[in-house]
Amino acid sequence: MDGGASEDVPVLIVGGSLVGLSAALFLRWHGIDVLAVERHAGTAINARAGHFHLRTVEILRSAGLEEAVRRKSEEQYPPDGGINNVESLAGREIANYFPNLNAGVDEFSPTVRLFINQDALEPILRARAEELGARLRYQTECASLEQDADGVTAVIGDLASGAQSSVRAKYVIAADGNRSPTRERLGIGMHGHGLLSNSITIYFHAEADLGPLLRDRNQGVHYVTNPLMRGFFRLDRSGNAGFLVVNLVRDTTRPEIMAAYPSAPWANVAEGITQQRALELLRAAIGVPDIPVVIEDIATWQAVADVADRFQDGRVFLAGDAAHVVPPNGGYGGNTGVQDAHNLAWKLALTLTGVAGPGLLETYDAERRPVGELTVEQAFTRYVTRVAPYLGTEGAQPLVDDFSMEIGYRYNSPAVALEPGSHPLHEHPRQARGRPGGRAPHVFLDRGGTRVSTLDLFGRNFVLLAGPDGRAWHAAALAAAGELGVPLEAHVVGGADLAGAGDSFLEAYGISPSGAVVVRPDGFVGWRGVEAADAPEAILRQALQSLLCRSDGKP
Ligand SMILES: Cc1cc2nc3c(=O)[nH]c(=O)nc-3n(C[C@H](O)[C@H](O)[C@H](O)COP(=O)(O)OP(=O)(O)OC[C@H]3O[C@@H](n4cnc5c(N)ncnc54)[C@H](O)[C@@H]3O)c2cc1C
Repeated sequence: MDGGASEDVPVLIVGGSLVGLSAALFLRWHGIDVLAVERHAGTAINARAGHFHLRTVEILRSAGLEEAVRRKSEEQYPPDGGINNVESLAGREIANYFPNLNAGVDEFSPTVRLFINQDALEPILRARAEELGARLRYQTECASLEQDADGVTAVIGDLASGAQSSVRAKYVIAADGNRSPTRERLGIGMHGHGLLSNSITIYFHAEADLGPLLRDRNQGVHYVTNPLMRGFFRLDRSGNAGFLVVNLVRDTTRPEIMAAYPSAPWANVAEGITQQRALELLRAAIGVPDIPVVIEDIATWQAVADVADRFQDGRVFLAGDAAHVVPPNGGYGGNTGVQDAHNLAWKLALTLTGVAGPGLLETYDAERRPVGELTVEQAFTRYVTRVAPYLGTEGAQPLVDDFSMEIGYRYNSPAVALEPGSHPLHEHPRQARGRPGGRAPHVFLDRGGTRVSTLDLFGRNFVLLAGPDGRAWHAAALAAAGELGVPLEAHVVGGADLAGAGDSFLEAYGISPSGAVVVRPDGFVGWRGVEAADAPEAILRQALQSLLCRSDGKP
């Protein structure tokens, strides 16, 4: 470093792509000052992630972004698209995984799954993060990090001028991607299935509308399985632009590559890829010889299924692809990363403001790593079944349904007041019924004539929801939170401010009319009292202390 100025910031984020931007946005949402540094000159330039899950869209809704994201999504893709597997766009359909992306969704969520390209989503995240006051510095690289007992000192370099300066942060989020230099520097290993394929993405536009080739099949993601190749298309709404991912090819013209991968009947796609070869693959996947298509770019990348051995090292937290890398099948990579950032943001905020005890930050690893491990396994299962059956299913987990994966994963950590009984890592949302550790269920309520979801009540503070006869919990929660300095809102559902929809709230949350739940700022149920109890204030004081890992909560 050449004597550059030093600046202080509570949280430094290394990496300003999908997950770094999300972390910046969520931290600002909680009022925490944040600096994100990103090597590139701006947001993503390639489409990459496109399939966004229910939980991600719910989180974006709570940050005020649902409308903007849905509008952009509908410009790019028809809503309610599908995911199927075809010999080629013009050829036979082999399987139909999601005839309609949003079938059955309204039972569980006020929002929808959607397709939006990462290069269109990132500017929306960036604008919102900046609007909330995040400092985002592009063309800036984090060159080193050093931790001590009180904080982390980072050296950052301005790639345009070459000038270096230092940043002193209390905490660092490493959202620096699958090759995470931070993870490497900390010596954190990865485990899992390793490298699955050297893949390519061919970005193209066609001079003809490819939409009619799909006939009555819903537009969205189309896996392609034919004797030449395996991969998938994402076609945009115009029908004449999109990309083709090729994970595997059978290339008998290149015996040296076949020899290098003796156990796989499929060769390395990325090595030595040329425009001509990409064009052959693209035309074979479209299924119309000589169709006029123009290749705009070919990106090479590795499909990997691995998870980091730890998500935390002292004051540094790994999030997104730095913490877990998955093949794109099922669309898990970006979604899981956004949800990492969302889990971490409120914990950092309440730690920095002195409300939480020191153990709360440790629950990030305890909660997100098992979810990361599950996600890696489930993405691997989808890769094996949809793309690479030659790998066999012995090493693959049975498929977990998409609702359980998206909104049914559960946390088991000190930041949850677990109830007696078993604690599976995931369950179908229909079975969850408000048990602590799961995502708080969606129920529509009436607030002064406006329909709101229970989910619309969560996002910034702890929230107590009591049944219509649960006024004692309501009063007790406000008193306990006030005494402890915990930001908390309380509502009686079925009371003056929120009219309940019959018994559906009580059923969804598994409580009697005199019961209550405490929902954490990330929308997960932290504590539940199924019915009225003696000394509600003492019970809630203890519950809040325990959820926040405060030592004054220890018996
Ligand atoms: C073809 C394809 C399709 C996909 N489809 C989906 C999908 O449908 N749904 C989904 O959820 N996910 C999908 N993904 C995965 C998704 O793109 C990634 O999971 C996501 O980009 C991860 O975001 P990230 O911010 O963690 O990492 P990245 O996007 O890799 O960003 C890391 C950033 O850190 C920066 N950086 C690294 N080191 C430094 C440093 N020292 N200093 C400053 N900056 C640094 C990099 O420049 C980079 O911008 C897909 C991926 C591919 C390849």
